[in-house]
Amino acid sequence: MRAAVLWGYNKPLSVEDVDVAKPHEEEILVRVKAAGVCHSDLYVLEGATPVPPPLVPGHEAVAVVEEVGPGVSGLAPGDVVVTSFIWPCGRCRNCARGMENLCERFSEVRLKGVLLDGEHHLFLKGQPLRVFLGGVWAEAAVLPATAVSRLPKSLADRPEMAMLGCAFLTAYGAVVNSGGVGPGDVVAVVGTGGVGLAAVQTAKAVGAKVIAVGRNPEKLKLAKELGAEIVNTREGDPVKAVRDLTGGRGADVVIEAVGSEETVDMSVEMAAAGGRVVLVGLMAVGKKAPVHIAKVVRAGITLVGSYGARPRVDLPKVISLVERGLLKPEELAGPIYRLDQINEAVEALRSGKAVRPIVSPTS
Ligand SMILES: [Zn+2]
Ligand SMILES: [Zn+2]
Repeated sequence: MRAAVLWGYNKPLSVEDVDVAKPHEEEILVRVKAAGVCHSDLYVLEGATPVPPPLVPGHEAVAVVEEVGPGVSGLAPGDVVVTSFIWPCGRCRNCARGMENLCERFSEVRLKGVLLDGEHHLFLKGQPLRVFLGGVWAEAAVLPATAVSRLPKSLADRPEMAMLGCAFLTAYGAVVNSGGVGPGDVVAVVGTGGVGLAAVQTAKAVGAKVIAVGRNPEKLKLAKELGAEIVNTREGDPVKAVRDLTGGRGADVVIEAVGSEETVDMSVEMAAAGGRVVLVGLMAVGKKAPVHIAKVVRAGITLVGSYGARPRVDLPKVISLVERGLLKPEELAGPIYRLDQINEAVEALRSGKAVRPIVSPTS
């Protein structure tokens, strides 16, 4: 099968013929219909998230189950699934406590580029290839069965459903699980990329008033079409603008979906007294950001990190919200590229031309 392989940081990907091993215990082999291109992949391509090449990136997809390994229940060949980048082992302390997005076994293997059993599944002329949380920029992938959720027939033919596996799952975790957003809350979303705009949709879906904060006029226009008020950080003081839109109070919940010193700082300053700042934008591993402690202390701000959400608990809810028309990935996804156009798809994301380019290995 063909896969997009990264041979070295900051090098173009090359499409290669790769052998894929049969699924081991509690794993599945899937045929990828469509996969999203995400900023977390860019971090891997640049080495800011240090998974050693050679590797196959891609961590959100819509795919067809081809084969199930021993011990897999509830999935069968032919099922269409969303694959997520969270792989719960189901047995560790955090999985048992209902926090399977923080699975201890998963966090041990995440940057090693292997599956939960520590094994490689892709080989090029006998050389093992690593994967970044799925390796779905390929015609086929092997994943833990716990990482996927079945799509209903009505959504199975839509390539944009790939976005549910990272962008919308992450947004759901940030808005609902970590942000605790409810009807009537004022939510500021800082960042208008895939996760930011998915968070705008999710916060609207649960009945919040949403303010989108960003600097790309095209993406802000899209946020406005999604029903958000907008603040352009290049036109005046964004903290003042959010205060002006909230009667001087600030936002009840701020979702920080960029991951820079500047945006973390503005997110804290935008929060209302007693408010919550949800950090979901990643920074390079090891990078730190200063925080205005006097404000956090005196205004009783809660700072909370948010990593994905639970594929077996939350992903079915995300799918249900899409089914009922409350979330619309089709407004954010595209254009669609062939696998051999992978470097163009990456460039479309990097340049800000596309919110979520989609790669379709079957087209
Ligand atoms: Zn992602
Ligand atoms: Zn676990």
